[in-house]
Amino acid sequence: MSNDTAFDRFLATVDSAAKVAGITDPFVLERIKVPERIHEVSVPVTLDDGNQQLFTAYRVQYNSARGPYKGGIRYHPNVCLDEVKALAGWMSIKTAVADIPMGGGKGGIKVDPHKLSVHELESLTRAYTERIWRDIGPEVDIPAPDVNTDSQTMDWLADEYERLAGVHGGAVVTGKSIAHGGSLGRDTATAQGGYDVLEAALQAKGETLTDKTVAIQGFGNAGANAALLLAQAGARIVAVSDSTASLSAPGGLPVGELVEFKDRGGSFDQFLMFEKGPADSPLFEALDILVPAALEGQITGVNAERVKARWVLELANGPTTPEADAILEARGITVLPDILANAGGVVVSYFEWAQNMHSERWVREEVEARLSVTMRRAFENVTELADRKNVSLRVAAYAIALERIVAAMTPARPAAVIVR
Ligand code: NAD
Repeated sequence: MSNDTAFDRFLATVDSAAKVAGITDPFVLERIKVPERIHEVSVPVTLDDGNQQLFTAYRVQYNSARGPYKGGIRYHPNVCLDEVKALAGWMSIKTAVADIPMGGGKGGIKVDPHKLSVHELESLTRAYTERIWRDIGPEVDIPAPDVNTDSQTMDWLADEYERLAGVHGGAVVTGKSIAHGGSLGRDTATAQGGYDVLEAALQAKGETLTDKTVAIQGFGNAGANAALLLAQAGARIVAVSDSTASLSAPGGLPVGELVEFKDRGGSFDQFLMFEKGPADSPLFEALDILVPAALEGQITGVNAERVKARWVLELANGPTTPEADAILEARGITVLPDILANAGGVVVSYFEWAQNMHSERWVREEVEARLSVTMRRAFENVTELADRKNVSLRVAAYAIALERIVAAMTPARPAAVIVR
């Protein structure tokens, strides 16, 4: 099979893991490899200057065997159906690895959000919601933020859904602001969950984070929060990047200052201090830990030999291609795979949904404690299978997920006929 696209790469990993999971029925495998539903919609928006523009958008509802579809919405110029299918497939695997009662889905709008005003972004989000609202819902499909979308985007989506559906429907999306029913701890959940997995993996090898050098590609929700957590734990953040440039300092970067700079809307190509480089250079800098936290397909068969780190913590979805995986494995580099390492976001999204559905409000400590238990349990399940079957953590995580999805897809046996 060609590994040219993100979805091809997803399918290739499903095939490898199906063998480990002992899934031999071709029809069962086919059902896992084909999305249940695909919505492609056109979204009309009136721009601030009075002109009108039509945007193409998607919602892929990949697998619902284990619960409602769950997954973020991405705003990016490169969004295409193949990418959304891959992201939706990854979500189905991720919810199963974390063992939360949800399926997988994903949405996206092909747009450069940096070219739109806040008012235009709100109109776009409301118009997208108008197109998909009949197909989502608290017990059907629950979107969340992803690249270039945030709690404000989710608040607009929830508000528009409530207006159209005529119900109080906050549980239709997660990642909302706290004022609109969001969960404490959702903003930092992806980074926190990744931190929990990394800490457990280091502990298993008798190592700690103290003085480890870390490089992070992508400095948004996932990357910037990871930088803060890792720096607090005593690691040295030696390189970071956003889509415009990288910054590096062998002695360590002032992470808090960089977060404030980004919060004010800055981009790293405008930052006045530190050595600058191309946006992908963090991939090749840290000696200990590399955190890809931008987009998919970054570590490839072409550049994997240049990765120096001993650990790769995949906070981005799909940052490593299968060719790169094989190279990293052969070089003894441990990849903590996306479907495990970045599952914290969807786990706390599930907590947010559960709180909304039960009109509850959990304190941050409770959210973080439950998250940590969930992530560590998933890590232990995955490492146990990886050791037992002598496969990578990625293949083991997929195999566990596939077993759980297949078990949920299998219909319950009909009750025995009672003969009186
Ligand atoms: P975000 O929009 O908050 O941040 C993305 C960051 O990546 C920005 O700093 C952007 O400038 C940077 N970036 C974009 N292209 C880049 C490039 N080519 N090189 C370097 N940097 C680049 O997005 P996010 O929510 O942090 O998501 C980042 C990744 O994490 C995505 O793959 C997403 O699917 C994944 N993820 C996010 C969550 C979540 O809860 N936010 C959960 C799971 C997975």
